[in-house]
Amino acid sequence: AALSDLLLSRIRDVADYPKPGVMFKDITPLLADPEAFSALVDALAALCRERGADKVVGLEARGFILGAPAAARAGLGFVPVRKAGKLPGATFGQTYELEYGTAEIEVLTDAFVPGDKVIVIDDVLATGGTAEAALELVRRAGGEVVGLAVLLELGFLGGRDRLAKALGDAPLDAL
Ligand code: 5GP
Repeated sequence: AALSDLLLSRIRDVADYPKPGVMFKDITPLLADPEAFSALVDALAALCRERGADKVVGLEARGFILGAPAAARAGLGFVPVRKAGKLPGATFGQTYELEYGTAEIEVLTDAFVPGDKVIVIDDVLATGGTAEAALELVRRAGGEVVGLAVLLELGFLGGRDRLAKALGDAPLDAL
């Protein structure tokens, strides 16, 4: 409770961003606060260890900011899942639906040793579309998903329900 209170107190609501009617959760005040940022990275690193992960996947772009230091603190390697066209070499790609149109994310085909236990980290879980695509991508690349961890879950958007199948037995943690 103390941790979640601290984290929530450093997240700012920005009205009508990125478009009218959307209340955006801005995590930049949290990132700028050394106490809150460090506490968040510590908590994510603890989750990585609890899940028995071998590798940490971060989702572009804010998942990189949280996932990379958590991986280093947990003594694990970091794997970026990027928007299409950014990774060098052979990739697996996964498209998913946005409100208007589609998006595609990619991972390098050799990112994992087959059977690697993988925890996926992002900042915010909204509709769950991004995470759902990422979990599928990790499996296609030979990883075993052992968890999904986010800073903030927007429960009213139903992401957790949408992810039930993709998660299987893997837990979803929202700090
Ligand atoms: P979803 O695919 O779950 O609908 O959207 C989640 C993705 O969009 C995440 O990668 C997250 O970074 C971004 N996102 C969606 N809404 C917000 C928000 O209110 N705040 C932040 N920081 N990111 C958001």
